[in-house]
Amino acid sequence: MNHTILLIEDNEQNRYLATFLLEQHGHKVVSAKDGPNGIMLAQTLNPDLILLDIQLPLMDGYAVARMLRNIDSLRNTPIIAVTSYAMVGDREKSLASGCNEYIEKPINPNTFVTEIERFLISKPKTGYP
Ligand code: MN
Repeated sequence: MNHTILLIEDNEQNRYLATFLLEQHGHKVVSAKDGPNGIMLAQTLNPDLILLDIQLPLMDGYAVARMLRNIDSLRNTPIIAVTSYAMVGDREKSLASGCNEYIEKPINPNTFVTEIERFLISKPKTGYP
């Protein structure tokens, strides 16, 4: 099953690794380097899932997630936060801003795709509260 995944990540190496791993599993990856571009692409692509870095230029991932959740067509799209922040409360902050899950960097190449595919198999069809 291949899906379209939007990757919003400003770090080139992280983009490269995530793209490589997802493409190996047959997924199509489109990436943006900042929030405003990511939001624009999300609206035109209507991706199956969004991978969202939290530490981004221009606006942080929390703000991006909140904006994405305010767009009708993206209200049910799985958003997974990917962040190197090791701060207490980060997971809660990600979830509160509309993300479905939180993955810590550095990403583990052995489990990364499996963690993401969970959200592709059971695409939530109910509205995000
Ligand atoms: Mn970053």
